[in-house]
Amino acid sequence: MHDFTYRNNELYAEGVPVRRIAEEFGTPLYIYSHNTLIRHFNAYRNAFNGQPHTICYALKANSNPAILRLLAQNGCGADVVSGGELALALRAGIPAKKIVYAGVGKREDEIARALKARILMFNIESADEMTAIHEIARALKVNAPVALRVNPDIDPKTHPYISTGLKESKFGIPIEEALEHYRLARQLPALNILGIHKHIGSQITTISPFVDALQKVIALSRQLQEQGIGIRYIDMGGGLGIPYNNEHPPHPRELSMAIMPLLEGCGFHLILEPGRSIVGNAGIFVTRVLYLKKHPQKEFVIVDGGMNDLLRPSLYNAYHNVLPLTRSRRKKVMADIVGPICESGDFLAMNREVNRLSRGDLLALMSAGAYGFTMSSNYNSRPRVAEVLVREKEFFLVRARETYRDLTRGARIPAFLK
Ligand SMILES: *Cc1c(COP(=O)(O)O)cnc(C)c1O
Repeated sequence: MHDFTYRNNELYAEGVPVRRIAEEFGTPLYIYSHNTLIRHFNAYRNAFNGQPHTICYALKANSNPAILRLLAQNGCGADVVSGGELALALRAGIPAKKIVYAGVGKREDEIARALKARILMFNIESADEMTAIHEIARALKVNAPVALRVNPDIDPKTHPYISTGLKESKFGIPIEEALEHYRLARQLPALNILGIHKHIGSQITTISPFVDALQKVIALSRQLQEQGIGIRYIDMGGGLGIPYNNEHPPHPRELSMAIMPLLEGCGFHLILEPGRSIVGNAGIFVTRVLYLKKHPQKEFVIVDGGMNDLLRPSLYNAYHNVLPLTRSRRKKVMADIVGPICESGDFLAMNREVNRLSRGDLLALMSAGAYGFTMSSNYNSRPRVAEVLVREKEFFLVRARETYRDLTRGARIPAFLK
């Protein structure tokens, strides 16, 4: 569910015509709905009401500071995967005690910062990392709160690039080796073992992979208990899918109904790390038609937004629904909607049926709130686009469009070239 709907054939973001925002700030740009964000966050909170839990929003889906502040004010925690994300989460006012830190390649300086900030826990992904965290904690004379990220070898049946819980994945510790890793952790006195973490992938549209993975994790917690290693936190990661096209992913309530019985009486504090399912459908990407081009075999709609702004179609062959800002009865045509980047892989939608378009028409790519702006780049020396947050009848610029000046920020011309 989201708040981008037609009224009199005009696409609105909550109570504001999208066209008005596009005219004020130019295109391409991202637009987010405050209402949708709050509703999605509350859907999780209400679904897990009754089970002690913390929702640690995965910043990598969308780390716009205004969105982080909004989530922070509603009591949300954070799942971070870099020092940069840690800094953003703390600056947004997310308490360190609600921050978990995952990722296979944490640097020493990043680990030290997280220790000094006193985050809730590190989700450790290898024995080497465990040793590093231990050494850094010793040097800082603190204890490091940790969980081990285990890889339960579950197929989430999603795109291979966003599957993270299979045997051949670089993520986590194979579950059959988890016990020996926990034993190793126990021998490191500066480590405070708090939990078990798993995250099996993204855009998962059925319940069973979550249930299967959690069952394996609970079985592991029992084995650990027998070894005298008590577990307080079960971190079940994120990964719940959203409708992009005609998927019907489960609602957070269906997820909670399936997993809460498994946790009953165990006394665990549950951590959830949703990213996409909070922000995905809360955002759209708006772009303007520049040119139409007809080849004998194919029609192209060339727009001003490219793969550097919205990478998902190029990277994952992902589907985003394309809607005109003004609905028309014009004849339908099949076209590829492509960007201006000098790459054949630069497309936003392939073989899509759209109403015949003209130069200057505005289009919305739906469900672009997650892994949209955060994956954008300056490729082809294009300034990164603006982001706008809509709240009922008001809208706010939450990130200004970059300027050409930003393209040389930090660059230096060596003296011999001056
Ligand atoms: C990416 C990621 C998430 C969020 O995944 P979504 O599919 O966006 O919910 C959560 N936890 C970890 C460890 C991740 O890497």
